[in-house]
Amino acid sequence: MSDAVPRRPARCEPEPPDADGLAGALLRWFDGRSRDVPWRGESDPYRIWVAEVMAQQTRIDTVRDYYGPFLERFPDVDSLAAAELDDVLKAWEGLGYYARARRLRAAAREIVSEYGSRLPEEPERLRSLPGIGAYTAGAIASLAFGLPEPAVDGNVRRVLSRLFDLAAPTPAALEGRARAILDIRPDRAADLNQALMDLGSSVCTPTSPACESCPAAGTCVALARGTVSERPPVRSRGPLPHRIVATAVVWRDGRVLITRRPAEGLLGGLWEFPGGKVEAGEAPPEAARRELAEELGVEIEVGEPLGTVEHAYSHFRITLHAYHARLLAGEPRPTAADALAWVRPRELADYAFPAANLRLIERLRDGACTPPSSFG
Ligand code: SF4
Repeated sequence: MSDAVPRRPARCEPEPPDADGLAGALLRWFDGRSRDVPWRGESDPYRIWVAEVMAQQTRIDTVRDYYGPFLERFPDVDSLAAAELDDVLKAWEGLGYYARARRLRAAAREIVSEYGSRLPEEPERLRSLPGIGAYTAGAIASLAFGLPEPAVDGNVRRVLSRLFDLAAPTPAALEGRARAILDIRPDRAADLNQALMDLGSSVCTPTSPACESCPAAGTCVALARGTVSERPPVRSRGPLPHRIVATAVVWRDGRVLITRRPAEGLLGGLWEFPGGKVEAGEAPPEAARRELAEELGVEIEVGEPLGTVEHAYSHFRITLHAYHARLLAGEPRPTAADALAWVRPRELADYAFPAANLRLIERLRDGACTPPSSFG
């Protein structure tokens, strides 16, 4: 915790903030600020939904780069529902958490078939759609339909935990606190939800909250008690698992072999160069040979290294050893993969890849996209 966190010794037990005063302070603060996000003021439920899904676990600056192009490519529920998964993943490439893109498309298909291409208003119906949890349902219901539904994301959880000095609040308790604030001005539920979110992302930040400029500082119980740094409790997360993977860029007639991961599961639906985990005691080139034999039924000759890439995904980090290779025997069959393709290096840009593979593709470009001479 930063030393910058203000502490105010409590002289007497502070009163918990009253919802009325809090709602007024939040709205005055919200009305006096502008935040330049492309979906602020948006009223189209589809566009609000896309923004909310993109913003999950992702920095706003990153979302800004994807939001406009995604909506140009898929301007409404129908176009998203009709799109190939490959195309949706390509538009999402680099944004991470790819299950969000798969579920967005799956939900679009359900909205078309079950709701006549219109997002339902009711939070229970929204929550029944793929990828829409309590937070996203509340955000859509309030921002798009003006309903007084709480939307408690990580930022709002932190703000409410501190305002009310809650040591271990349950989701229901937090929703109850948020709902009490919205009930003061149900006509401005969307603004109140956004005020809480903005306060969490810009003022009441995890490690250096700017309490001196907080509109609710006068009634913040954690500030009065000096417990800001303990609210909310930090969820401990151990070190990320580390995977060491060997992969082969198999060349044939100026094309390279790529395979598509099964739609469900980690990085599902994305393309990659074939390969797999390096077992204990195994050298990476051996692992590449074994994996391609097991998963594609082919024998390969492993040639020059293309390079090693380190990358941290959300749930694991990877060290990827990549090698140029060529087929010695067999014709690849996608037994573990969903599909395979032989593509010219310049065509790789048409397929969606995970981040570590994109770095390998950059290296292929640096090498002018030609196979090593021994494989030519
Ligand atoms: S709600 Fe405001 S006063 Fe309370 S900890 Fe957060 S920034 Fe500080």
